[in-house]
Amino acid sequence: ASINWFAAAKLGHYFIEEVLRPGDAALDGTMGNGHDTLALARLVGPGGKVTAFDIQSQALENTQTRLNAAGVWDDRIRLVLDGHQHIKKYVTSPIRAAIFNLGYLPGGDHGMITRTETTLQALEQALDLLVPGGRLVVVVYPGHCGGDQEKEAVEQKMSGLAAQQFRVIKVNLLNRPATAPGVIMIEKAVAKREGTAP
Ligand code: SAM
Repeated sequence: ASINWFAAAKLGHYFIEEVLRPGDAALDGTMGNGHDTLALARLVGPGGKVTAFDIQSQALENTQTRLNAAGVWDDRIRLVLDGHQHIKKYVTSPIRAAIFNLGYLPGGDHGMITRTETTLQALEQALDLLVPGGRLVVVVYPGHCGGDQEKEAVEQKMSGLAAQQFRVIKVNLLNRPATAPGVIMIEKAVAKREGTAP
C-alpha cells in the first residue's frame, strides 16, 4: 500500500510543481502527516503562503514537526484545525495550487476519514479560489470503506466541469488492483482573448 500511496502522491506533486512558483499562495485540504504541506511550502518559498487544513490536532502536530525539521516552519505556513468544507472562512485571496489527499491519516485513527459531502463542498471552494492556470490535485483512495463511493462522486463532479473553463485529467496505476489510489488533476483555463483560435 505504501508504494501505491507514494506513487500517487508523488504524481500529484509533479502536476503542482509545473505551476507553483515562489511567492504564490497554495492550499493543502488534508494536511495529515504534512508531506503535501511541506512540498507546497518548498515551492512557494519564504515569500509565499500555504494554508493547510485538518480536523485532527495530531495532524497539526505531525505537520509542524515535519516542517520544523525541514526548516520551513515560518510565516508562510498557516495550519488550521477545521474541516476543509470551511476553506472560505480562512482563505479569501486567490491560490495557484491545492492538494487534497483523501482518506485517513496514515498511522492515525482510520475512522477519521474524509467524507463525500464535505469533500465535494471543499473542492468547489478550492476550484473557485484557483487563479487561471492554477491546478488542483485530488488523490483518491477507493480501497477503504466509503473511499470508492467518494472517488466516484469526485470523478462525477469533475467530469461535469465546463470544458472551456477547466482541463480535467484522471490517472490510474494500470498494473495495480482497482483499489489502488488514483490522481485527478484539474487545471483552470486561462481566458482566451477574443479573436484568438480555439
Ligand atoms: N496530506 C497528508 C500527508 O501528506 O501526510 C495525508 C492526508 S490523509 C490521507 C487524510 C487526512 O484528511 C487525515 O489526516 C484526516 O484527518 C483529514 N480529514 C478528514 N476529514 C477532513 C476534513 N473534513 N477537513 C480536513 N481534513 C480532513
